[in-house]
Amino acid sequence: MTTTGYLLVVALVLAAAIAAGLSYATRVFFRYRGKMLFTCPETGKPAAVKVAASKAARSSLTGRPDIRLTECSRWPERQDCGQECLSQIGADPQNCLVWTKVADWYRGRACVYCRKLFGEIHWHDHRPALMGPDRKMVQWSELPAEKLPQVFETHWPVCWSCHIAETFRREHPELVVDRPGRRGPMGELIPQRVDDARKADSLTRV
Ligand SMILES: [Zn+2]
Repeated sequence: MTTTGYLLVVALVLAAAIAAGLSYATRVFFRYRGKMLFTCPETGKPAAVKVAASKAARSSLTGRPDIRLTECSRWPERQDCGQECLSQIGADPQNCLVWTKVADWYRGRACVYCRKLFGEIHWHDHRPALMGPDRKMVQWSELPAEKLPQVFETHWPVCWSCHIAETFRREHPELVVDRPGRRGPMGELIPQRVDDARKADSLTRV
């Protein structure tokens, strides 16, 4: 093999190694990116954390990814903690993501107003809401992530459409006409039956 050929082979091997390293680092970055929910070993309560995904990706180029926290809802008070919660991250960090836990909670539940079942929720969808025991509504994304596990115990799911409609109804009652018998004990809308509509239609024709 000539010198030029040898150099070409070395360059190709190096390029392949760099590409493989960058590909792995990119996977590491996306694996640890996003807000996660852990149980704080000190308090036994949920804590919202973020892993330093960029640092993990960079360190993965030279060895095992260095996994450290970059944010925690208990900081700055407990910024010097040992970060023992990181042991909960497990084989699939995606399971710890706040988004995954929210999507799991909504999936298969029904909107308390329209009874429509929630399917898979996507990040680009309109975000669903929650109704509390005081009948106030809030979107899950407006709440501190570490409060969500507790909120999920006491609140009901509300789809985005009902959240918008009911918020409008509450804020502008003068613009909304409530029809008696159209709402259940929870204030949920009861769909008008087709035969009722036909009956009304026949009465107007008489
Ligand atoms: Zn609904």
